Amino acid sequence: MTDDLAHELALLREFGYTHLDLSSESAAEGGDATDGSATDDWTELQRIATACTKCRLAKTRTQVVYGVGNPKADLMFIGEAPGRDEDLQGKPFVGRAGALLTDIIKAMKLTRDDVYIANVIKCRPPENRNPEPDELDACRPFIRRQIEMIEPKVIVTLGRFALQSLMEKGFSITAARGSWLDYNGVKVMPTYHPAYLLRNPAAKKEVWQDMKKVMTELGIAF
Ligand code: URA
Repeated sequence: MTDDLAHELALLREFGYTHLDLSSESAAEGGDATDGSATDDWTELQRIATACTKCRLAKTRTQVVYGVGNPKADLMFIGEAPGRDEDLQGKPFVGRAGALLTDIIKAMKLTRDDVYIANVIKCRPPENRNPEPDELDACRPFIRRQIEMIEPKVIVTLGRFALQSLMEKGFSITAARGSWLDYNGVKVMPTYHPAYLLRNPAAKKEVWQDMKKVMTELGIAF
């Protein structure tokens, strides 16, 4: 077995696959995970995510929303799940909440290309309902692996689901926001979700306080 193949099989095992369907039908659907054509971990992970059927959201999604930005970013924003716009475009945070996130990033003197943006859930929940616990569990290996590969200095979690799913703890967002947490040695700043800010603009003040802590940590003057 080549090193590439052994590596890919180990990755698939980590993502919960217990057997491989090597029939020609599966290969024709793009499901042949053993062709060895992947050039690096990032490409492999994205390919596995794009073909993922580990939870019910695979049936209703238009596209898997994997993540965008600098794969070596110092700063990573992690949201909840794609909405309608994201599902159609295949990119996270491109709707109204996304425009506000873009403004927050600009206010931090950064661009979307400087940071990495992803969600804890890669496929849109129907009607934008809250993600179910088993969906969060099924998707968690992807965000973990993305963090391992990006190696950010700081992670900002946006809203309750991103915080709780990443940390695997039932934090209250109101109590946790604004204080540093640790995820495997990476500093985590929990803050409110931009969609919440659209409904409660007064809370923008608190988010800006949180982002100033992040800027200080990253050595960005404000
Ligand atoms: N809300 C999220 O949490 N993520 C998106 O990508 C868009 C809206």
